[in-house]
Amino acid sequence: MGNFDTIKDRINILELACDSGIEVKNNKALCISHKEREPSLTFYPETNSFYCYGCGIGGSVIDCYLALYYL
Ligand SMILES: [Zn+2]
Repeated sequence: MGNFDTIKDRINILELACDSGIEVKNNKALCISHKEREPSLTFYPETNSFYCYGCGIGGSVIDCYLALYYL
């Protein structure tokens, strides 16, 4: 299970979002977990994490992956 750290280091959260068809502008995008018109889902490439100021979803690149594909 220690492989998670490797994945975290390898996958860029912005690339992951773009590959999933999410439109990211200035590190912001429309939330994947709640409906909204103004993007409040924010990506932090420095820490490879994300957070939504609208609904509070957030976490590491792994959490982002799970949210994108299993939500
Ligand atoms: Zn949200």
